[in-house]
Amino acid sequence: AGGAPRPSSTRVMVVANQKGGVGKTTTTVNLAAALAQLGQRVLVVDLDPQGNASTALNVDHHRGVPSTYDALVDGQALTEIVRESAEVPGLFVVPATIDLAGAEIELVSVVAREGRLRKAIHGHPWVGSATEVGADRFDYVLVDCPPSLGLLTLNALVAGDEMLIPIQAEYYALEGLGQLLETVDMVRAHLNPDLAVSTILITMYDARTRLAAGVAEEVRSHFGDQVLRTAIPRSVRVSEAPSYGQTVMTYDPGSPGALSYFEAAREIATKGAL
Ligand code: ADP
Ligand code: MG
Repeated sequence: AGGAPRPSSTRVMVVANQKGGVGKTTTTVNLAAALAQLGQRVLVVDLDPQGNASTALNVDHHRGVPSTYDALVDGQALTEIVRESAEVPGLFVVPATIDLAGAEIELVSVVAREGRLRKAIHGHPWVGSATEVGADRFDYVLVDCPPSLGLLTLNALVAGDEMLIPIQAEYYALEGLGQLLETVDMVRAHLNPDLAVSTILITMYDARTRLAAGVAEEVRSHFGDQVLRTAIPRSVRVSEAPSYGQTVMTYDPGSPGALSYFEAAREIATKGAL
């Protein structure tokens, strides 16, 4: 399959959209696996109390396992929390346990509550530039956000360099995006001036319907070059994979879903290398 050039320093990408069910988790885990297959070293941070990304990556996340919660609320070092995926070499995970559901409220009284995730990520010795870290560095950190714009997602937006917004190709696709982009503007103005909405990915695209084509066209005319050329097709294989504790990249590498996540990963890696 060949590789892709590694970025000169870690790219922290936040996968966010406050709407549920648009493909955030599916995109996070499959892109992460695809990037790893392209020779990148990737860390997935599960920031959703549901722990769906942890499940899909087959990483233990029952209560008591060191998790995102410990990093955010207790300031525990990520080095003590990160686990390597057994399935995909080069893929690492910070799992989320159900404890994270309480973090949204517990963090309210914590000092610098919006910057906790940034501190945790940047405190990891493998996050940084080629010259600082060397070959061990993470090339990508992908943060899988919960379906809300609360303190957890805010932490992700403060931690990130880039934002990846998955948009489901369906009728109400653009509804709520205004609110998301206003939040991004607020974060940029007050907390993280460097945050860029670098990537829009159209998910669950059904080429047979005019509706999907119309939505895709609307998204492309609105966001232009930020939208990846590759759209992810709706495919049963993609939705089946998590129940086997696998990404579609290993569950069915030749399926249309896997191939398009691979293409999307290649686009992201190439774009960043420009
Ligand atoms: P979110 O994290 O935004 O809530 P998910 O990634 O969990 O969304 O996806 C929502 C549902 O849609 C899941 O059941 C998932 O398996 C399914 N799904 C996501 N992408 C696809 C796809 N390309 N084809 C078929 N089903 C998909
Ligand atoms: Mg999710």
